[in-house]
Amino acid sequence: MQQDKFPDRENQLLDSFKRSITYLRISLTDRCNLRCIYCTPKDDHAKLAFGELLTYEELLRIVSIAVRLGINKVRLTGGEPLLRRNVLSFIKRLTAIPGLNDIRITTNGTCLTDFSRDLYTAGIRKLNISLDTLKPRRFEQISGADLFSKVWSGIQEVKEQGFYTVKINMVVMRGVNDDELVDFGRLSIDEPFQVRFIEFMPIGEKTSWSNEMYMPMEEIKKRLESMGRLSPVKTGSMEGPARVYRFDGAAGAIGFISPVSHRFCSKCNRLRLTSEGRLRSCLLLDRETDLKAILRSGGSDEDIKNVFIETILNKPEGHTLQEGNPVNCHGRMSRIGG
Ligand code: SAM
Repeated sequence: MQQDKFPDRENQLLDSFKRSITYLRISLTDRCNLRCIYCTPKDDHAKLAFGELLTYEELLRIVSIAVRLGINKVRLTGGEPLLRRNVLSFIKRLTAIPGLNDIRITTNGTCLTDFSRDLYTAGIRKLNISLDTLKPRRFEQISGADLFSKVWSGIQEVKEQGFYTVKINMVVMRGVNDDELVDFGRLSIDEPFQVRFIEFMPIGEKTSWSNEMYMPMEEIKKRLESMGRLSPVKTGSMEGPARVYRFDGAAGAIGFISPVSHRFCSKCNRLRLTSEGRLRSCLLLDRETDLKAILRSGGSDEDIKNVFIETILNKPEGHTLQEGNPVNCHGRMSRIGG
């Protein structure tokens, strides 16, 4: 029935606010080998059992249906996506889905020395790598693991391999890593990366988020402008919500992701598939539909398609997060995938 609300579909999913929905983020696992203070709840070791994750077969079926509906970009995230067993053979099968020509990965970078060549061979060219500090000891304090040099070697390897979009994601936390803003700015001058500064969001319960630790984009930008002129860079519609700039003569660029101070909901083209197989229309709204239950009770392709359509029609106009108002969602970042 719901297809009638999309008269000109099969392949353009418009939501109730006329946003074209083309991008699916998939949390492949909630497991991670880091326990970053901004992401992982304190003293929480609850992990999904393997059987609670969608199997690769289930994921491929869902993605194939989503692509027929108009999704053309998929991001693998987590938890740490590269920790999931046999992830490479899954990625190869994903790249074979007709119509899906943009597959990206968000990773903490700890496994890239092992994976970069195979990822490249599998056809992946775009990676986002989380890195919140350039100081090894601080890396351990933020993430709970002494793995800075592993991540840094992974980043260098990815550069040599020839991935053509490498984005470095730094979650900016006042009093934790904001004294490194200029160092990260310099990284964008010296290296061909897009260095992205992300506002710290209050997501999930019992993370270390506090109003004092939150730093708005305007302040981050001002600090960087002390280094020199930042000129705006035009980006394509597939390149996400970052406002992109470049220092004169820089090898790379700077991106600002400001979900709190400058909401980009009006341009949001995303759906999220959580690691327990639930489809979600907004990072910050705990409203989900259990696709796994539908799949495992013999649901048809039409049933799955209808869940996509309902989820899109119910996608909220915007999230309710505001500066100074720590109302958050309860879902865990590792299960939602960021
Ligand atoms: N393990 C991978 C990684 O570290 O990039 C993928 C999962 S991680 C949840 C995805 C993204 O979410 C990362 O770029 C991370 O920095 C971001 N993130 C997690 N918690 C956040 C928070 N509270 N505020 C802003 N960004 C956050």
